[in-house]
Amino acid sequence: MSHVSNINQLKHQIMSTLSVAEKHLDKLGYLDLEVDPTLDLFEEIEKLKKEKNAIILAHYYQEADIQDIADYIGDSLGLSQKAADTDADIIVFAGVHFMAETAKMLSPKKKVLLPDLKAGCSLADSCPPPLFRKFKEKYPEHVVVSYINCTAELKTLTDVCCTSTNAVHIINSIPEDKEIIFAPDINLGRYLQKTTGREMVLWNGSCMVHEIFSAEKITKLMMRHPEAKLIAHPECEAHILEKADFIASTTGLLNYTKKSDATEFIVATEAGIIHQMQKASPDKTFIPAPPNNTCACNECPHMRRNTLEKLYLCMKYELPEITLPDWVIKEGVASIDRMLEVSKKAGL
Ligand code: SF4
Repeated sequence: MSHVSNINQLKHQIMSTLSVAEKHLDKLGYLDLEVDPTLDLFEEIEKLKKEKNAIILAHYYQEADIQDIADYIGDSLGLSQKAADTDADIIVFAGVHFMAETAKMLSPKKKVLLPDLKAGCSLADSCPPPLFRKFKEKYPEHVVVSYINCTAELKTLTDVCCTSTNAVHIINSIPEDKEIIFAPDINLGRYLQKTTGREMVLWNGSCMVHEIFSAEKITKLMMRHPEAKLIAHPECEAHILEKADFIASTTGLLNYTKKSDATEFIVATEAGIIHQMQKASPDKTFIPAPPNNTCACNECPHMRRNTLEKLYLCMKYELPEITLPDWVIKEGVASIDRMLEVSKKAGL
């Protein structure tokens, strides 16, 4: 067989394997293709970025390798700002589904890829739009503030979104005489009620990662490390927040560990952030706060569905892609734009 027909046969095999993988995409959430184990994936991904003018945006809760190859690492606010600003043709979102949807809403003309479509979010899932629509009908005059960790469709029922970085500013930007519904995170909602003094109607949703920290195990850790500061994300339950020395968004926690004189920290949020904390302060010690199960640290199973292999495949074949109906983009993006305006005014 000639060299040319060999190549053609190989191409044909690759195309048919790809079409089988595409057929299974909906069921699996990702392209189930073999990746040559001898490939240097860091190098290959860098090449694909250049070839396709693609940018990788990664959340702090991604595995360390993905954080290291990303062009930008941040929390929900920073990632949204970056998605709105980028001049890349392709946004590869190493995070969960609602984050990639947000990027698509902010940059509807760009191709937005997510390595695994099944990288969901228990918090977003805890607020199904049809149920929320009925709930909202009971409070027709209320302003709806939704944590950005919600589906694109929920954003169409929202007046203004917030993240944990800007939530206090967003609540304070709403006139005093207006009543507020806050969705979907009840723990963040309670924390905001306490911080801002505003009574709000709260939707009863929560994050599976932040609601399972063990107060008992954390207390024991604090006794063993009496100099350590307990730092916590406001998605944690109230009894954990009450113990914390410092409460903030993931970026806020990271900045705190850089500036603080303390050398030991017990970190009550998803353990992925510790990679950046350790990089920024190699001489300090970071201890993940333990959950109330047999694991030593708390990782988000949704965030961890993304792997370097899936990231490489999704960039190579530009699949899976995030698509949204036009009406969802049109009606939902206003709530994100309002959030970005308030954040800008507040210098965030
Ligand atoms: S950590 Fe919680 S809020 Fe964040 S993606 Fe995972 S389940 Fe959702």
